[in-house]
Amino acid sequence: MIAMKEAGLPDVFIKEREDFIHTKGKQKKQLKCENDSVAGCVSQRACVYCGARVVLNPVTDAVHLVHGPIGCASYTWDIRGSLSSGAELYRFSFSTDLKEEDVIFGGEKKLARAIDELVLKYNPKLIFVYATCIVGVIGDDLEAVCKAAARKHGIKVIPVQSSGFIGNKSAGYRAACDALLRLIGPTSRNETKESKCVNYLGDFNLAGEVWIIGNYLKQMGIKLNVAFTGDSSCETLKTAARASLNIVQCAGSMIYLAEKMDEIYDIPYLNVSFLGLEDTAESLRKIARFFGDLKIIHKTEELIKKEVNAYSGTVQSYREKLKGKKAAIYVGGGFKAISLVKQFSEIGIDVVMIGTQTGRQEEYEIINELVDEGTVILDDANPTELEKFMVEKGAHLLVGGVKERPLAYKLGIAFIDHNHDRKHPLSGFAGAVNFAREVYSTVCSPVWKYIGT
Ligand code: SF4
Repeated sequence: MIAMKEAGLPDVFIKEREDFIHTKGKQKKQLKCENDSVAGCVSQRACVYCGARVVLNPVTDAVHLVHGPIGCASYTWDIRGSLSSGAELYRFSFSTDLKEEDVIFGGEKKLARAIDELVLKYNPKLIFVYATCIVGVIGDDLEAVCKAAARKHGIKVIPVQSSGFIGNKSAGYRAACDALLRLIGPTSRNETKESKCVNYLGDFNLAGEVWIIGNYLKQMGIKLNVAFTGDSSCETLKTAARASLNIVQCAGSMIYLAEKMDEIYDIPYLNVSFLGLEDTAESLRKIARFFGDLKIIHKTEELIKKEVNAYSGTVQSYREKLKGKKAAIYVGGGFKAISLVKQFSEIGIDVVMIGTQTGRQEEYEIINELVDEGTVILDDANPTELEKFMVEKGAHLLVGGVKERPLAYKLGIAFIDHNHDRKHPLSGFAGAVNFAREVYSTVCSPVWKYIGT
């Protein structure tokens, strides 16, 4: 591995970042998180608008109209690789393409014209209008424009208040959840509940993962009503209030919605994780226990037995091949980071560095319990910090998103995309094998012997 000096990396950080970085076993203070990024750092964190867009983009039959300069729309075009079983409208990225003149004179008229044009061309039932940084600066009244357009066209036109400067990526998640609550509507409060019927929150159907979990639920005798937001549509989302339980996978983006739905529609929720053999089995059991129906409990045990028998041998064989390897993790939310530590432990890999963009205090506490002494834990990191710790800790692999890929490759470290660009599912029992196989094929690839170490 490249020595620190040879790599030309600094030994010190920006002073204000100190509290956001811990080494397990060395600090007594709580890790600082859920804060705005430190000014002057090139944070890896995505912006408010991006946070909202990643949550809402998988709504397949919606028009996603970005009110802002063209760059905001292109940055998030077809983000995530979510799959659809029906409409494909979500794969376009529409923009009002705000220019200097609009910044001076306002962009409301341009926005209204863009909505008219989109309605004429695509006849959508639902339009999400996203506010970007510049909208926060010039003060366009999105609410008024969307209200007038909804009345004019008789469709749902929902503003997403995700302009910059209102916080960090988490504020974008909340803005998206508020938009979803508006879609479900207050009148759904009177909807009759269906027993043994769940909504699945925080899965964006990457590589068809919602379908895998939906299939498990079906085998258990439970109906999947709608997923938020993977492979969802305007009509299916509007039926959300009829479910008797919400299960929440990506808590970072969806816990706010789950809490609100509990408060407004009286739907309780459970946190689940379908990453790794152990977490998947435990989450299915948790759901079965919630319904307390002996038939469901029995079917769930049958399903777990069948799946674990089918896949655990393969996972074990990769575990033997991966002995002694070390991983670094930098992902969006705390839920995924926690699941990844457990998944790495299933395949015998030590985690030496772990961080998130939007992890919550309680999630960092769990991470701290799970990792070994000496593991670096960091919130809202910048590229310099990630590089420094990957090198210092001798990581063989980085798991991250699209922005972290070049960092790893430049250092000659293997990389796994756990976010936007992947084509195979990592959820469920089959996903655990895909994960182990991918870790093996990238970490043990012969290419690394041609990189100077
Ligand atoms: S909303 Fe702001 S930070 Fe986000 S892509 Fe647009 S200009 Fe950049």
